[in-house]
Amino acid sequence: MALIVQKYGGTSVGSVERIQAVAQRVYKTVKAGNSIVVVVSAMGKTTDGLVKLATEISPNPNRREMDMLLSTGEQVTIALLSMALQELGQPAISMTGAQVGIVTEAEYSRARILHIETTRLSRHINEGKVVVVAGFQGISNAGEMEITTLGRGGSDTSAVAIAAALKANFCEIYTDVPGILTTDPRLVAEAQLMDAITCDEMLELASLGAKVLHPRAVEIARNYGVPLVVRSSWTDQPGTWVTSAKPQGRSLINLEIARPVDAVEFDTDQAKVALLRVPDKPGVAARLFGEISRQKVDVDLIIQSVHEGNSNDIAFTVTTPILKRAEAVATAIAPALRSQSNPKLEEAEVMVEHNIAKVSIAGAGMIGRPGVAAKMFATLAEAGVNIQMISTSEVKVSCVVNAAECDRAVLALRTAFEIEAGEQGAGSNDGKLSTQHGLNAPLPLTALSTQHSALSTQHSPPPVRGVALDLNQARLAIRQLPDRPGMAAKLFGLLAKHNISVDMIIQSQRCRVIDGVPRRDIAFTVSRIDGENAKKMLTQVAAELGWGEVVLDSAIAKVSIVGAGMLGQPGVAAKMFEALAQQEINIQMIATSEIKISCVVAQEQGVKALQAIHAAFELAGSEKFVVPA
Ligand code: ASP
Ligand code: MG
Repeated sequence: MALIVQKYGGTSVGSVERIQAVAQRVYKTVKAGNSIVVVVSAMGKTTDGLVKLATEISPNPNRREMDMLLSTGEQVTIALLSMALQELGQPAISMTGAQVGIVTEAEYSRARILHIETTRLSRHINEGKVVVVAGFQGISNAGEMEITTLGRGGSDTSAVAIAAALKANFCEIYTDVPGILTTDPRLVAEAQLMDAITCDEMLELASLGAKVLHPRAVEIARNYGVPLVVRSSWTDQPGTWVTSAKPQGRSLINLEIARPVDAVEFDTDQAKVALLRVPDKPGVAARLFGEISRQKVDVDLIIQSVHEGNSNDIAFTVTTPILKRAEAVATAIAPALRSQSNPKLEEAEVMVEHNIAKVSIAGAGMIGRPGVAAKMFATLAEAGVNIQMISTSEVKVSCVVNAAECDRAVLALRTAFEIEAGEQGAGSNDGKLSTQHGLNAPLPLTALSTQHSALSTQHSPPPVRGVALDLNQARLAIRQLPDRPGMAAKLFGLLAKHNISVDMIIQSQRCRVIDGVPRRDIAFTVSRIDGENAKKMLTQVAAELGWGEVVLDSAIAKVSIVGAGMLGQPGVAAKMFEALAQQEINIQMIATSEIKISCVVAQEQGVKALQAIHAAFELAGSEKFVVPA
């Protein structure tokens, strides 16, 4: 007998008939010998309707009253579903977040969960009742017992947090799509359903998957090892399993406000190869990495900076033993990368650096918290460590530093982020990265009920699990930042102070001496809505500090491939770049993590880029998915 938490989204409980259908499904699961806690959303578009009502009365409604209002939606559903279960002869009881004791911060409209009382829940479960809990809401513990909500889409988070608190066997998220698809089916008709995906991959695909599954819910599942499945409430199809490594015995206190960083990782066995001043035109990265993969050289980080004039710098890291081969390939291909019509002497120069190390911080908690990357840079600056290159993804920031400074950097970061040496973070292996470092292990099948064992594909994860397109970003570049410790810290500290979340950060390879000071360019992406403000703020600061020009480009798109299977597999990046080259799409920036490669391209080419990449990795399926309106 298993303890299962089932969550039903708005469309799944959108009418009396739907609520009755849900009751049938719950009843069947109980009759099969399981105990169930059900978490529900508000019916259909109820929450949107309530928001609209509020804005008709006030253009800027009070946030406390807003939470009071929005929390009523879920309360309707719990009562109705409870009645429907009782009609079937199934004992059931409805409970609000406050009645359960879902204790949150006293932050209206975006409260994070601190802890969940399980006494009353457990008592009802033991009495054989189905407990129907209102999602999306909680109660503050700061004396006043205020009603709070978790932010739109927050019922997923309620469900997974309850599953973690009750140590449930697994959590099922019922929705109106069959599971998680390889890409957005509105843009790529051939999008295919995945059997499984790891939490790490899901988080890196946040811009693709966020509508199906709240990233905060994935974060909790990962941190507490809650097996999660996303399924349709209309069918009996198995859906998509979102898997995580074994639970790590993390405390259930401060559930959602635990450390933003799980692990500090490092690799001293790295060397860097850079191609400076290659032409900024389609196909260059494809040729370079195509040749590199033909020579079976496995690259780790790839960074292409924003171009200056008409050229790019592309840098990548490899492990020291294969450096010679990597350098040979780069040198051999360099002449072919020079502009054929009008080659310049300094074009496509190869530069190699031996003594470098990669230091990374990893953790789902950094999503939406702009201060985390800034804190890493500040910590390195205080330790006197200069950052040579930066590459980021949704859940990771990697810096290339001098190898001699690696120990100092790691020590400082562990202290700053309160990570003990040797501590096993989710997805890390005692800090030291290696090609087989502990990405989420396959889920033990024993944890699952027999009807959900569709996990056979877990054993050799595909190099690319999914492809995402983000059309809501803008790119900012700051020219000629002095190359010394503390500059990145200053820049990203400022952005964090203004609450501007940075997505992809790239510090360029190219270093130029101006007025006797070595300087580098730094580029990053932010939400498009933050673009103008960030530019204004930074232009002012740049003038004061003697930095160069601040350039904003709002017409960009970011395409990303994500897959745990790309670790240690040469040729994945080459294939992505080749797919773009074939469509004559120019790559403006490249940033990578171990399991993700992102390219910035012109906005009008975004959809074409997505389609080409999805096809190149043979992710197309035969089944067509109809997207509900
Ligand atoms: N009803 C809330 C919303 O629409 C929470 C949820 O459904 O997850 O945002
Ligand atoms: Mg939802």
